[in-house]
Amino acid sequence: MTDTLTKLTNQGLGKTVAVRLGLPRPALLRRYAEGQDLLDGPAAVGSIGDGPVAASATAIIAASGANVVAATADSTYADKLAAVVYDASGARTLDQLEALRATLGPAVKALGKNGRVIVIGTPPAELDDPEAAATQQALEGITRSIGKELRAGGTANLLWVAGEAQGDSAVLAAPLRFFLSSRSAYVSGQPVLVREGEIPDVDDWHHPLAGEVAVITGAARGIGAEIAKVFARAGAKVIVVDIPAAGESLAKVANGIGATALQLDVTAADAGERIAAAVAQVGDRLDVIVHNAGITRDKMFVNTDESRWGSVLDVNLQSQLRMNKVLLDPSVAGGLRDGGRIVSVASISGIGGNRGQSNYAASKAGVIGLVRSLSQELADRRITVNAVAPGFIETEMTAKIPLATREVGRRLNSLLQGGQPVDVGEAIAFFAEPGSAGVTGQVLRVCGQSQLGA
Ligand code: NAD
Repeated sequence: MTDTLTKLTNQGLGKTVAVRLGLPRPALLRRYAEGQDLLDGPAAVGSIGDGPVAASATAIIAASGANVVAATADSTYADKLAAVVYDASGARTLDQLEALRATLGPAVKALGKNGRVIVIGTPPAELDDPEAAATQQALEGITRSIGKELRAGGTANLLWVAGEAQGDSAVLAAPLRFFLSSRSAYVSGQPVLVREGEIPDVDDWHHPLAGEVAVITGAARGIGAEIAKVFARAGAKVIVVDIPAAGESLAKVANGIGATALQLDVTAADAGERIAAAVAQVGDRLDVIVHNAGITRDKMFVNTDESRWGSVLDVNLQSQLRMNKVLLDPSVAGGLRDGGRIVSVASISGIGGNRGQSNYAASKAGVIGLVRSLSQELADRRITVNAVAPGFIETEMTAKIPLATREVGRRLNSLLQGGQPVDVGEAIAFFAEPGSAGVTGQVLRVCGQSQLGA
């Protein structure tokens, strides 16, 4: 569902007119197709000093088959770059940021279409010295600004790599690959923290969920249906859940990907038990639960009645707490295994609030609070808990928004377009991968670096 402006301004006469008039031209984003190479050109890797993470980054990219060239202040690039990775994790003084500017500038200039910029830093909270913390925090401002300046589908993201995880290429591989790949087409300007984790060997990066059992709620249509397709493509045995009234479309989604359909209202008191029972039918334990089911009942706060308030909080938040409680009980057959994954769908409304959505924003902000708290509680069981916060995604839900408001939501981001449901699916699958064991308690916006919800 590419929108009309993006289609028109990328071909024939429409393109010529748009260029002449200086109209915004949203790029056609490169998206993942089964078996696609990680990068479609060379990557440049540079660092401040020796850079404890640069060597791992180089090894990870080279292992994918891509060419890696050195990024230095003197480098010139013969070919367009597909990506630049800059390890600034060793920077401790503001002076050192000049080295970043001098090296990263020419490399960013040499980026081709859908180019990737990845800056690597040390979490400022780990540093006692104020100048060191300031230097590292500056990386966020730099990365977010580059994200806003890039055109032609380029993205810029920041990996905070905890000191204990620096130099561990196993823990870095899945996050680095996600942000380099076309799976992160609609993710820009975002920081993600990577810590230590127990990472199994990954033999097949195209099917990282092979053999895993995953439950996806709200999967009869929209984002949930697309999450289910991405999980099936990645090799998972999928159970799709939706309300009985959506049974027909749920069956269609399930049949299309060889999944099991479970008609269930997630607010039912026994929803957790019924999910666990369905899991026990297809496998041993549950590997991944994706809480995607969600509703909106928009009204200004002062006009929101008890029913609109309660139903949104119940479907979007309370149901997750209830189901998690059952699925996390080790004595429940078909419950979540140790080392498993919980991924919740939040929203940028839950970060920035939204006019007419106090109930929805409460529920989505609540999801973020839940994820942060539960990730700590479950660290001992190696269960990771993360959330994805979509921005404007082209779905039936957003197609109903009045045209003028819809155009604002769609264009007010660095990529000048709405995201596709698949973009949310890819981000959720990234959190679900075994290789993402070092990523927990994170909230990743899939919003094209939207100015809304900021
Ligand atoms: P959608 O309305 O198209 O799909 C939601 C699905 O959840 C539907 O199939 C619905 O039947 C199901 N569902 C609703 N209540 C349920 C219940 N009680 N039990 C089981 N299933 C239930 O919405 P979407 O746009 O695909 O959104 C999916 C998720 O993404 C939601 O959590 C939504 O809040 C979130 N989100 C969407 C956007 C966007 O732009 N579309 C932006 C931010 C967040």
